[in-house]
Amino acid sequence: MPGRGRLRQVTALLAVLFVACSETATTAPATSAPAANVVATSSSTTIATTISSSSSIPSPTMRIGTTTTTAEPEAPTFAAEIRALDDSVLARTTWKPDCPVGAAELRHIVLAHWTPDGDVADGELVVHEDVADDIAAVFETIFDARFPIAKMRITSPEDLADPPSDDNNTTAFVCRPTVGGTGFSQHAYGLAVDINPLWNPYARDDLVLPPDAGPWLQRTPPQDGMLAEADPVVAAFDAIGWGWGGRWNSLVDWMHFSANGR
Ligand SMILES: [Zn+2]
Repeated sequence: MPGRGRLRQVTALLAVLFVACSETATTAPATSAPAANVVATSSSTTIATTISSSSSIPSPTMRIGTTTTTAEPEAPTFAAEIRALDDSVLARTTWKPDCPVGAAELRHIVLAHWTPDGDVADGELVVHEDVADDIAAVFETIFDARFPIAKMRITSPEDLADPPSDDNNTTAFVCRPTVGGTGFSQHAYGLAVDINPLWNPYARDDLVLPPDAGPWLQRTPPQDGMLAEADPVVAAFDAIGWGWGGRWNSLVDWMHFSANGR
């Protein structure tokens, strides 16, 4: 019958159109199409959605969604490892024989920290052996509070000779004098820690360190990674009896914590 043949042709044509529309709807959102194509894309999407919702078979997307929801991702946990410095680690530090601490008295801590992007990364610190356990405990508190650390790596001789103007490296042992002084800094004993220096600057009169930290002299409202009175980081250092440079008067050193408060 001629009428029936025409019906088959129309059905076949519709099937081809539906397939074509579905393919368009799948690929179109990935491209930023000019305005003229946006209209075609939206009508194709409508057709594809209607076909999908009228089907009784769960789509692959729905099955994937269910699997993702039921699988509980494990929460990241804190880990820290404390070791003596081997020769390769020591070579990366600023230690020299005339530093006020022996290399054998230093410890290398590899520990987990949160990043500003919400990831967990490994960082490393070098500290005096007498405070290694306390510092690992402080950084466990910092981790549990999800306080972000921009980066944490050993200060190298190159970093010391030519510090970046936007330095934001959290560090402990650095064999250097005090800022503007001749005596050794507490960092040279491995008995001080600086946290996120760019966001927690040193300021004395017109001197700001690191030099690009001017915007962070404004301390309120506190931003992520900035230290403030009564936050969990300051409280953790209080708990081990360390002093905070954010409480000093003649100058202020928000990044700085030390065992003897200097
Ligand atoms: Zn410091």
